[in-house]
Amino acid sequence: MYDPGQICDRGRFVCPLSDCDFVGPYSRFHLHFIDKHYNSTVPFQYDKYFPITINIDKKVIVLQEENCRDIYILHNATERPGNLISVSCFEPAWNGGVTYNIMVRSRRTPLRFDSCTKSIQKLDDEKTSLASLLVPSNLFDSNGQLKLFIDIRGP
Ligand SMILES: [Zn+2]
Repeated sequence: MYDPGQICDRGRFVCPLSDCDFVGPYSRFHLHFIDKHYNSTVPFQYDKYFPITINIDKKVIVLQEENCRDIYILHNATERPGNLISVSCFEPAWNGGVTYNIMVRSRRTPLRFDSCTKSIQKLDDEKTSLASLLVPSNLFDSNGQLKLFIDIRGP
């Protein structure tokens, strides 16, 4: 039987969304995202491409798997030649990672990127990803938006 008292979380985790100061054991985050961030969390399913439109200056988007409730973070860092985009898994310990694929269907420069997620426990982890997709700035439209298609492989 499930007994929260029996679960020992190592350390406390800080919610990765910048406008939230929730801190707690990892086991509470699956519900926390459903309760508090339902509107700012992008639901997806494993092994299925899903579209997502990102703003050029939006640094963090939370992705939550609809069935398992696993939490992933889409990182979008603005750098000199363009934006660096990657996905990491918000989880308490390294779990081997899962593979993911990002596609940008631009007529000028179609991009495809395959990588593997890294585990992160907080957003300022020094390196949030193993590798990132570099998207040239001119692929963002005049409103600073870009449509991506992401496929995260189930563990
Ligand atoms: Zn939060």
